[in-house]
Amino acid sequence: MPAQPTATASAAPISDRPPVSLRVSGLRVGYRVEQGHLRAVDGVDLEVNPGESLGLVGESGCGKSTVGKAILRLLPEDARVEGRVLLDGDDVLRMSARQLRQIRWTKLALVTQSAMNALDPVYRIGDQIAESIVAHEDLDRRQAWRRAEELFTLVGIPQERLRDYPHQFSGGMRQRAVIAMALSLNAGLLLADEPTTALDSIMQDQVLAQIQRLQRELSRSMILVTHDIAVVAETCEKVAVMYAGRITESGPTAAVLATPYHPYTMGLRNAFPTIDGDRRELISIPGNLPNLLDPPTGCRFASRCPFSTDHCREVDPPLIEVGPGHLSACHYPDQAAAFRDRAAQRSTWTTDPGGG
Ligand code: ATP
Ligand code: MG
Repeated sequence: MPAQPTATASAAPISDRPPVSLRVSGLRVGYRVEQGHLRAVDGVDLEVNPGESLGLVGESGCGKSTVGKAILRLLPEDARVEGRVLLDGDDVLRMSARQLRQIRWTKLALVTQSAMNALDPVYRIGDQIAESIVAHEDLDRRQAWRRAEELFTLVGIPQERLRDYPHQFSGGMRQRAVIAMALSLNAGLLLADEPTTALDSIMQDQVLAQIQRLQRELSRSMILVTHDIAVVAETCEKVAVMYAGRITESGPTAAVLATPYHPYTMGLRNAFPTIDGDRRELISIPGNLPNLLDPPTGCRFASRCPFSTDHCREVDPPLIEVGPGHLSACHYPDQAAAFRDRAAQRSTWTTDPGGG
């Protein structure tokens, strides 16, 4: 007798596609808008090794979803895209429609907040998941249903609820069902864009824990897009912080959050509680993102940075290595420790920056 199938080593249901590697380099995305060209993403490099999880963080409008959409080739037709998005070495940006169909759902799957609407109200949830499996893989209906059952167990929903209709599910269950659906084809890379934003915080924790467990147990590669640095701290081994279309700091999550080198990361860290159990004062970063139609010269964060100098406003800081795999785009890595101390004080962020 074969052993009871488990999620990780099942006989049939969850196939063992290998995790994929992703290498994004020099990614630029411009949206055509009335007033001109909006440079939403302006030279982004990212690397996700097989089985790795990367958190992409930054405040609203910094370009996170645009990066995600570029990776999945889901940008509007008139968007201007440059750079490379290598998925296991093949450039997604140069693939034909046919090649794209082959990799979608097998190598790349997407979970978004609006994916909640992906469930059709008039069909049973189990039928919808099974149907998508049958459409993409060489499995019959019974095998597909069995895989759906396993996935429901994985995301913590009783199997019998596969026979329910979407309206019979709570919001959190619907979200988990969508995650199950995204995982049903066992894509090598899961791109989750604010997958839990619509949920309350308890449900958020549950869903994130499940995504994390799945990613680890099935050794998928993952990109988690979120504005919440605390979520990344809990879920991802690597982090890339974005500001105004660029990566300002990246590296191992623990290192970046414990000893940030970029003042923006320091400010972002202040805005979220209990990353490491510290009783840190909640401080927000005053000001707004610069105009992406006409980005300023020099460091894009300079106008909001409490430590900026004339040099910052004139010269664009490159990403430089400040620790193992840890990059930061600030001109003053030597002063990072002092910046960290000052960044923890509210008064630092309330006085007008730019005094030099
Ligand atoms: P959020 O956290 O709010 O989801 P984000 O970091 O995902 O923000 P994006 O959605 O990538 O940000 O948007 C980056 C910039 O591009 C913003 O200025 C946004 O207004 C603009 N933008 C996004 N999509 C389009 C579009 N289809 N057409 C024109 N501009 C767009
Ligand atoms: Mg977004």
